Amino acid sequence: MNFVALKPGKEKPARHHHPWIFSGAITKVDGAPEPGDVVAIQDAAGEFLAWGYYNPHSQIAVRLLEWEKSAAIDDEWWRKKLAAAVARRGQLFDRSDTDAFRLVHAEADFLPGLIVDKYGGFLVLQSQTAGCDRIKPIIAAALNEILKPAGIYERGDVTARKLEGLQHANGLLLGIPPPDLLEIKENGLRFLVNLQHGQKTGFYLDQRENRQRVARFAKNKTVLDAFAYSGGFGISTLAGGAAAVLSIDSSPAALELLKKNYEINGFSQSEFLQGDVFEILRKFHKENRSFEMIILDPPKLAPTKAQAERAQRAYKDLNLRAMKLLAPEGILATFSCSSGVTAEAFQQIVFWAAIDAGREVQILERLSQGEDHPVRLGFPESNYLKGLICRIL
Ligand code: SAH
Repeated sequence: MNFVALKPGKEKPARHHHPWIFSGAITKVDGAPEPGDVVAIQDAAGEFLAWGYYNPHSQIAVRLLEWEKSAAIDDEWWRKKLAAAVARRGQLFDRSDTDAFRLVHAEADFLPGLIVDKYGGFLVLQSQTAGCDRIKPIIAAALNEILKPAGIYERGDVTARKLEGLQHANGLLLGIPPPDLLEIKENGLRFLVNLQHGQKTGFYLDQRENRQRVARFAKNKTVLDAFAYSGGFGISTLAGGAAAVLSIDSSPAALELLKKNYEINGFSQSEFLQGDVFEILRKFHKENRSFEMIILDPPKLAPTKAQAERAQRAYKDLNLRAMKLLAPEGILATFSCSSGVTAEAFQQIVFWAAIDAGREVQILERLSQGEDHPVRLGFPESNYLKGLICRIL
């Protein structure tokens, strides 16, 4: 069996079940493993640490799978991990008001590099690594057996694949292709999703609970849904009794979908603006416009730790601009999905924005990602989404 040996002193994260070995921690690769091959990881003294799959093209050279030396990483091993991840979603399968959620959350579900989302009767699979590409057929067959979906579609158009030296991979894996627009249910609301071309795997499933929490504060308020995508937050606030919603997104395709979603839910108290949120907020301030609730759900502004500093300035600027537009006692629901920005750092950023805006702020709720996107304690990187619901005095 091929093995990968770590430099002295680099074994601690692996012992604590952190799933990543960076290339810089490796001193020796024995047996010339190919991208995706399963290897044994040893400490500097040659003692077994874990099994993982290897990719020489990635900075994350090994993703750890198993810490039991006698285990075999065979088809059955993968099937068991997958079945366990699906079984953990029992409570979500039981819900009659929601039929779209995440089934496999990669490393945090002990299946590194693998995302599986369920949208009604269809599944979307995303393989982010060479190791995961190898087991795609096993996973697809197992999903088919457990869930009997109408179709399983692969969305492999993510930058993560590039970092692994892999091409994009999109297409049907099993069954029939999903319709161009598939209707799903979330918290009793209707949403159309485009599984083949939409953002992410079609919908921001991780915000499901947060949409409901934010909606609780929306009654009779005029709402600005910035970075609206297909309308998840804005539509939820109208369901919660908001007076009107203005949605902004830079993507025409997103706004087209969003308009349809407002329509099928029967909401007409809404306006839509295509453009850059940063510019539009500045312009609104000049025009003395104000809102009683603002939702800020920007894309990842800090994809990596190195970009964290520039991203912090952008987050601060965004929150400052929003605070300037909020009426007294207005509600700000503000998010960051950058794993490089911790919850503490994010709160600090909002504090700096408040200082510059000259506003007092109360935190009403601290938010994270939905339960189907679990945070694995030994893998802090899986805690990527953080949000605050604040009252801006
Ligand atoms: N709130 C959404 C998800 C937002 S994802 C939901 O609940 O589903 C981020 C969105 O911001 C994307 O739709 C993207 O098209 C849009 N976007 C990215 N940069 C932007 C910018 N500078 N101005 C406006 N929209 C932007």
